[in-house]
Amino acid sequence: MSSASRRNAGFQPELRKNIVTREWVIIAKGRGKRPSDLRRDADPQEDPPQYDSKCPFCPGNEGKTPPEVFALRDGGKPNSRGWSVRVVPNKFAALRADGSDALRSVGIYSARDGFGAHEVIIESPEHNKDLWEMDTEHIEGVVEAYRQRYLAYEVAESLRHVLIFRNHGPKAGTSLVHPHTQLIAGPVLPHQVHLELLGAGHYWEYLGKCVFCDILDYELSSGERAVFESDHFVVVTAFAGRYPFETWVIPKRHSIRFADMSEEEASDFASVLKEVLRRIALCLGRPSYNYAIHSAPTTDYNVRAYHWHLEIYPRITTLGGFELGSDIYINVISPEDAAKALREVGSE
Ligand SMILES: [Zn+2]
Ligand SMILES: [Zn+2]
Ligand SMILES: [Zn+2]
Repeated sequence: MSSASRRNAGFQPELRKNIVTREWVIIAKGRGKRPSDLRRDADPQEDPPQYDSKCPFCPGNEGKTPPEVFALRDGGKPNSRGWSVRVVPNKFAALRADGSDALRSVGIYSARDGFGAHEVIIESPEHNKDLWEMDTEHIEGVVEAYRQRYLAYEVAESLRHVLIFRNHGPKAGTSLVHPHTQLIAGPVLPHQVHLELLGAGHYWEYLGKCVFCDILDYELSSGERAVFESDHFVVVTAFAGRYPFETWVIPKRHSIRFADMSEEEASDFASVLKEVLRRIALCLGRPSYNYAIHSAPTTDYNVRAYHWHLEIYPRITTLGGFELGSDIYINVISPEDAAKALREVGSE
C-alpha cells in the first residue's frame, strides 16, 4: 500500500488493541476502502492443469519426495499411487530431526541446533484444486491427517510446539501450486502463540475465565464481526485484525489443543473450513492466503487458559516499512465491513 492511499480523504484511522496479545493495530474505520476495492480479477495464467508430470506431489511421482510417514489410501503400496492424502518429510526442511536441542552460547548470544521436524501434508492427488473446492468428506481426511501428525509429535518431549499452517498462492509465499499444508514441530514457541498464552494467562488470573470464550460470547451477541456459526464452531473477523479480512475459526467448546477434537467436531471443522475459505475466495477473487492453527504447547499440560483456534490471513496488501519496523499493522478494511461482505457472499 502506498503512503498516498493512507492519506486518502476517506481514511478514518482507529487504534485497536488485540485483547489477547495486547498488540495494537491501525484500522480504517468508517469510510476506509470498500471490500470490493480489494477484489482482484483472476489471472488466466494462474489456471494450472489437473495434473503436472513435473510436480513432485502429483501421483506417479511418489519417488521424488522422501518416503511417506502417513497416508490415507484406497489401495496401493506405500510410496506408490492410490492415496487420497499423503504426508512426507519436507525435502527442504526448515528444521531437521538430527542434532541436539541444547541451548548454547555464542559470545553474548544464544543459539541451538535447528532441531525439529518439517512435514508436508499433500491434500489431494489433484494438482489444481484449492482446499475448499474438495468434497467435505475429502477435507475430513485432510483434517484427520493434521490430527494424526500433531499427535505423532505431541509425544516427543524435546519438541515444545507443533504449528500446522497453509500457504496458498504466490503472495502467500508458496512456490508449489499443488494443494498442501505444512507442519513444523520445534523446540521453541512461536512468538504469536507465546503472546497469546501470556495474554490468556493474565486474563484468566484477573477475571477467572478464558479470553477466547469471552470473545465467542461477545461476538455472537454483538453480531458485528460474526460471519457464521456451526454446531461446534464460530467464524468471526478479528476485532484488531492485522490483515484485511483476517478471520478466526474458534471452537465453541473450551479446549486447549487442536488434536483433542472429537470425531464429530473434526467433521464439523472440515465443513466450516470449506465454507469459510469458499467465502473468502468468492469475496476477494481467489486471493493468496495463509492460515495457521494455534494450539497449546505440547509440553505444558497444565495450561488451562488457552483455547485453540484457526487464523486465516488473506494476503491482499503488502507489508511496508511501518509494519516491519513497528510491528503495528495497518488494516485498510474494517473487520465489520469484512464480516458483512463475508455474510452476504454466503447466500450467493
Ligand atoms: Zn501436482
Ligand atoms: Zn475458552
Ligand atoms: Zn492465535
